[in-house]
Amino acid sequence: MIESLIEFLNTSPTPFHAVANVAARLCENGYDEIDESTPWESASFGKYYFTRNDSSIVAANFNRQPAEHGFRMVGGHTDSPCLKVKPHAITHHSGYAKLGVEVYGGALLNPWFDRDLGLAGRVTYRTLGGTQKSRLINIDRAIAFIPSLAIHLERGVNKNRSINEQTELPAVLCRVSVADHRHANALPDFDRLLEEQLERQYRDCSIEKILAHELCLYDRQPAAIIGLENEFIASARLDNLLSCYAGMEALLAAGDSGNHVLVLNDHEEVGSVSESGAEGPFLQSVIQRLCGDQASFSRALRRSMLISADNAHGVHPNYPDKHDPNHRPLLNQGPVIKFNSNQRYATNSETAALFQQVCEQNNLPFQTIVARSDMACGSTIGPITATKLGVRTVDIGVPQLGMHSIRELAGVTDQHTLIMALKGFYDASDLLF
Ligand code: ZN
Repeated sequence: MIESLIEFLNTSPTPFHAVANVAARLCENGYDEIDESTPWESASFGKYYFTRNDSSIVAANFNRQPAEHGFRMVGGHTDSPCLKVKPHAITHHSGYAKLGVEVYGGALLNPWFDRDLGLAGRVTYRTLGGTQKSRLINIDRAIAFIPSLAIHLERGVNKNRSINEQTELPAVLCRVSVADHRHANALPDFDRLLEEQLERQYRDCSIEKILAHELCLYDRQPAAIIGLENEFIASARLDNLLSCYAGMEALLAAGDSGNHVLVLNDHEEVGSVSESGAEGPFLQSVIQRLCGDQASFSRALRRSMLISADNAHGVHPNYPDKHDPNHRPLLNQGPVIKFNSNQRYATNSETAALFQQVCEQNNLPFQTIVARSDMACGSTIGPITATKLGVRTVDIGVPQLGMHSIRELAGVTDQHTLIMALKGFYDASDLLF
């Protein structure tokens, strides 16, 4: 199972690719894609999935009257902090062509230096036939690099480094001979690069013009099992592709006797406020259409529950004081139930107890976390979805180290435990709810 997580991480450099991978896996397992703009019969049982913006997905294994049985829902987010390419991307300075980037989300910026960087995302273009088309690309070779400044040129760097996002993050692409501005055409043609990549990946592009793109740089180093005892997984985007993968595996492994929903939203790292984000109407719209009428929808929600799965901060052995002494989650000790009385997490005593019971019934470990009282607390899609839908919610997630770094660290067995816990939730008896 860990090998297929590694494959998922390596082939999902962007939310677009993550959703495409989840959709392909659902298709293989009998799920039908439904276009939200088509009339589809509400309340007909079956296995469906829906996507928005190619970067969010809702899947439903729908088997029972929702008003009587509600929905068991698992949520996660498909996006991770990264460097996104600016619309007019190519700049040049001092004999180098560079790629201008914008910081997406709360990225730890230092780890982006001195990495072999690939480029992936969605490109929208006009075809020769005059239609608009979007396709995913992945330039899966290292085409960019953000070199550190040598320590000899900034002696105090190990004591007090700060990073200017505008001037220090543009990524070096190649040497160019435009220093004297007489050979401007020696700059790389970015649109041409995208066209060539599209033609390499797809046979039927017939591109007239590249219109726009949503591309991000990503670390070319593949995910790996590491550590003296091979107990850790190191990878980019563990937050939160690990939870997306676990939710997908749990949905596919669970039985067909309930109403099981998986919702994976984009844009969590920037506040979830978008057409496809958790703050938008995507999930509500799907649930409403499955229910058919307002009364059924309202009744179903009162019988429903959401597990919002997003990684938690494991205690860092070099910084143990960053955690409350009684709440220091360890890697490979099971998923963490997240508490915050100010509702930064949606967990309450009843939803926490339900998750605990699911774990206990399946002989799975779990831990708890609450932030230090003198430190700010993060948040996730849990409270947002709870607010939008009015659904009982518990926020959980596997503990990890180095959150929002370009390479994060999680526990190998936690991955399996999370899948089993989510499957246990989908399959748990109605009596528990
Ligand atoms: Zn997250």
